[in-house]
Order: sequence, then structure tokens, then C-alpha cells
Amino acid sequence: MSELKNPLEIYAALAKTNCGECGVPSCMAFAAAVLQGQKKIGACPYLDREVVAQLSRRIVQRRSLEDDHQQAIDQLQREVAALDFAQVAPRLGARLVDGNLAINCLGKDFIITPSGEMVSDCHLNHWIYVPLLHYCIVCQGKEAQGEWVDYGTLPGAAEWSQYFSHRCEEPLRQLADAHRELVFEMFDIFGAQTLPSSGGADHTLVILPLPKVPFLINYWEPEEGFDSKLNILLDRSAGENINAQSINLLARGIIEMFRQLILRHSRDGKLF
Ligand code: SF4
Repeated sequence: MSELKNPLEIYAALAKTNCGECGVPSCMAFAAAVLQGQKKIGACPYLDREVVAQLSRRIVQRRSLEDDHQQAIDQLQREVAALDFAQVAPRLGARLVDGNLAINCLGKDFIITPSGEMVSDCHLNHWIYVPLLHYCIVCQGKEAQGEWVDYGTLPGAAEWSQYFSHRCEEPLRQLADAHRELVFEMFDIFGAQTLPSSGGADHTLVILPLPKVPFLINYWEPEEGFDSKLNILLDRSAGENINAQSINLLARGIIEMFRQLILRHSRDGKLF
């Protein structure tokens, strides 16, 4: 018996009257909802019971992004649960506290329990949760070398490079343009270290999203006739302590945190 994975195949069996009695406005919307697991095929009263039984056996529900995400977290938690925390703590630059790992992320402690759960006073979002678990598993403990490189030069990062630039560097530049004082205050609160200007930047600072994954941020303020500029560089050692995708998620997590804080604390409660 062939599997049904396409809403059109389900739509073909429906009455196509768009009567809405199933609780969605059209037969096509109903077919899509069935595949996504939001509706049971039997919710259409115009389908013969035998047809309902046949279709039910053939429908393969699509997994939602949330399902995929949860599955990834479950797998990472299992791998973290298999670690010997006392052994890995020094490699991660973490502390052992009551049998848990305390990992400093942007100046705040994130606690990883032996079952891979995470606890923190900070607002947690999934961009930070997954990279932290991943860091626990793959970090080689390589110390920073002081050699700052573009994200795209790290192992496995080339294909993510444009994404990093559009979804991380560019949004952070826009936030810094619109809320410069607040953004640099937040960097301060998150333990940023100001460095002497690099490449003529107006602001150069280092943050530690993870103990062994420092980010160097350069920001050039806009000048008459010139747009502002911002780049995020990584220490070359980052490639041995975390993977490229997790760095991307981390950077997005930080920016998401900044956006939420700006919405809460800016004078007009607006991002732009
Ligand atoms: S109840 Fe059946 S016929 Fe009516 S809109 Fe829903 S799927 Fe279409």
C-alpha cells in the first residue's frame, strides 16, 4: 500500500465543496492540516468510513520543525548524560557544582544537570540551548590563540558564511545603529572586554558566549556619506571547540536576546 505524503493526494479524495464543517475553511487546508497532524482524516463528515480507514493507513504525517528540534535536543541530552562531568569540566572551562556543570556564558552561569537539562537565571532560547549542549560534547579544550579569523574560514563554515553575515552581523549592525548606547551597555553587562581599536573600528570588544569560544566584534559608526559597518571574528581555535552551525546559532541567540532586551528597555519600546 503506497504512502500518502502530499496534500494533493488527500485533497483528491475530498468532496471539494469547501464547506468548512471540518473546522478549517477549505478542503485543501484540511488536507494540509491532516498531513501536519493537526486534523484527523475522519473529521470530514463527507468521507465514507471505509475510505477514512484506508487513507488513515496510508497517511504519513510530516514532522514539524518543533519535532525535529526536540529530537535534536533529546539526542544531545543523551550524549551529555553519558559524559563524566568531573573529567570534562576542565576541558570545557566549566566548574563542577554539586555534580552539575556550571558553564559561564556571557558572564552568566548556565547549569547543565547530569541528565542534560539546562537551568539559568537568563532568558533561555533554543539558539543558546543547542550550542551549549553541543559544546559539552565536542569541545577539545583548545585555548584561544589570539588569531582572529572570518567565520567563513572555520572548518565547515563556508556554506554558512553568507547566512552568518545576513542573519548575525547585519542585524547586530542595525541594532547598534538604532540603539548604540543601549547595545554597548548590554555588551558591558554581558562581560564584554573592550580592546584597542582594530582596523580603525570605533568600537572593538571581545565577548565570551562560551568559555573557549570568544567573539571579537568590530563596529564602525556611520559617517557622512558612509554606512556603518560591523563584523564578528572568531578565534581560530573556535573550530576545534564547537562546530560552525552552533556558532551561527549562538550568534543568533545573542542577537535575539539583545532584541528582546531592547524591546523591553528602549525609551519607546521599539526596535527601529
Ligand atoms: S468538511 Fe470535508 S468537504 Fe467540507 S471543507 Fe472540510 S474537507 Fe472539505
